Amino acid sequence: MSLPEPSTSGRFGEFGGRFVPETLVPACLELEKAFRSAWADPTFRGELDALLADYAGRPSPLTECHRLSEELGVRMLLKREDLNHTGSHKINNVLGQALLARRMGKTRLVAETGAGQHGVASATAAALLGMECMVYMGEVDMQRQALNVFRMRLLGAEVVPAMSGSRTLKDAVNEAMRDWVATVESTHYCLGSVMGPHPYPWMVREFHTVIGTESRQQCAELLDGGVPDVVTACVGGGSNAIGIFSGFADTEAELVGVEPAGGAAVGRGVPGVVHGMKSYLMQDEFGQVQEAHSISAGLDYPGVGPEHSHLASIGRARYEQVTDAEVIDAFQLLSRTEGIIPALEPAHALAWVSRDRAALAGRTVLLNLSGRGDKDVAQMMDVLG
Ligand SMILES: *Cc1c(COP(=O)(O)O)cnc(C)c1O
Repeated sequence: MSLPEPSTSGRFGEFGGRFVPETLVPACLELEKAFRSAWADPTFRGELDALLADYAGRPSPLTECHRLSEELGVRMLLKREDLNHTGSHKINNVLGQALLARRMGKTRLVAETGAGQHGVASATAAALLGMECMVYMGEVDMQRQALNVFRMRLLGAEVVPAMSGSRTLKDAVNEAMRDWVATVESTHYCLGSVMGPHPYPWMVREFHTVIGTESRQQCAELLDGGVPDVVTACVGGGSNAIGIFSGFADTEAELVGVEPAGGAAVGRGVPGVVHGMKSYLMQDEFGQVQEAHSISAGLDYPGVGPEHSHLASIGRARYEQVTDAEVIDAFQLLSRTEGIIPALEPAHALAWVSRDRAALAGRTVLLNLSGRGDKDVAQMMDVLG
């Protein structure tokens, strides 16, 4: 393992921790204990690996992009998380958490969702394992993402509108946590990124290290035992990024996370506490959490996972910001040159490579293609006319 465990209090440097009400502390401790034991248990690991292979379709391929490389003057390798079942990296985490919940004797999953992608993934895992599933979603998001609401219901989940605050993702997180406190005997809270109170940032990272482990081996085969010069990924909460970074943290590879300019928690945030963790957070002058704005609903979160805050503060990773206009160009660039329509989230990472192509000339860049673009084509049809 190339990224260390957090401290016993769940800290990555000064970030992370477990900032929850007293009533939630026992649930977090129980979860940490259960995860630690499961992760060390070859039977659990074998079950999860079998599901990742036979259900999710792992290992995902590594694709060398010849035409894109020629156009950019940068050797581009894509880790194809877009080819997983349900269309993104999210399945790695939800299969892990659902299996863990079952092992803990729980019969019900609650989840929060913004754009709906994590809700759909959670509903998928619940259907597969025969568990009940309740997904909290801001009322505003439910209207914006009606198709995903329908998908979740089709998969047998109940979707509950979060009516408080701005009626978006951060309100859905609060309601999911409230549900968990009240029902912890039967319920596991299936959190969607490397966020929240300890042990979530660590546990969710571990469920995504499969991306980094596979990539490291695939790169070694392609690059004669070498590693790419740069490893890049988009950062919302930061789960797909930490997953691929984990495979290269012990190498010379530069690690670059890419945020939307309108949701740049690392780039424009300050340390604060929200949703059970200390991390960089976009706040106004009064310390109120600011709304994030991005063309990609999946990156619309004002915070970031605490380990990214730590990696930024020690200089092991750096974080770049791109605009919606740059993302729209990158979305078309990959479609046109490689026949791969990306999700708007990983198009952020490509947007940065494309903008910095002069500085990256001749180097090898591994980009985590976290998801496929099917969910975004209708929106892009409107944007592009
Ligand atoms: C949800 C999502 C993201 C953002 O989540 P992270 O935790 O930052 O990885 C990125 N890409 C895709 C395709 C997603 O569905």
